[in-house]
Amino acid sequence: MPIAASIAAIKEQVSHAARAHGHAAPEIIAVSKGQPLDKIVEALAAGQRVFGENRVQEASSRWPDLKPVYPGIELHLIGPLQTNKVKDAVKLFDVIQTVDREKLARALGDEMRKQGRFLPCLVQVNTGEEPQKSGIPPGGLAALLSFCVRECGLNIKGLMCIPPAGEAPAPHFALLKRLAALHNLSHTSMGMSGDYEKAAALGASYLRIGSAIFGQR
Ligand SMILES: *Cc1c(COP(=O)(O)O)cnc(C)c1O
Repeated sequence: MPIAASIAAIKEQVSHAARAHGHAAPEIIAVSKGQPLDKIVEALAAGQRVFGENRVQEASSRWPDLKPVYPGIELHLIGPLQTNKVKDAVKLFDVIQTVDREKLARALGDEMRKQGRFLPCLVQVNTGEEPQKSGIPPGGLAALLSFCVRECGLNIKGLMCIPPAGEAPAPHFALLKRLAALHNLSHTSMGMSGDYEKAAALGASYLRIGSAIFGQR
């Protein structure tokens, strides 16, 4: 399917799912990691402006050239961030979705002040409490949020999660929504190609969709 048609179909589907459950239509983040440039340009030509990338290095290889050509691009970092990449990340991205530890929060706060770029951030929550996965376990969230805001001056808009592979995602989406509400955060980033309709029905504000828009990587 052409990319414009995929995006239109997904938009229609998720607005419907969200409204049927009393939620506003979510924003679709087109996840362009691992996709060739011509497909990204096709999405841009179709009017898509919100994109997600996993790695600072890959994003740095193409978005600095695309941003001036297509005004209004909003680039989200959705992959793990090492502190030695914070400078490049703050320069290039518009939203950081993967704040998950104090050291990273501190580095982001310092770098944002240095660059005068105060980006909205999300805290990644490891809702499945998987040992090898990024994200703060739910039990550590309150302390990390308070550290981000009070000690680092970060603008935390919401929470992000990636449910464990092979588990039903809905309980994880519901948990993320509850945690966001508990901490008065307006945004949740949840739902990928395999489960975006469920995430929309559960009130996601951002869906991160790659292969369903662009095809397999
Ligand atoms: C790759 C990726 C996505 C998109 O995955 P698809 O299954 O292709 O939609 C979403 N979120 C994160 C964090 C990713 O790394």
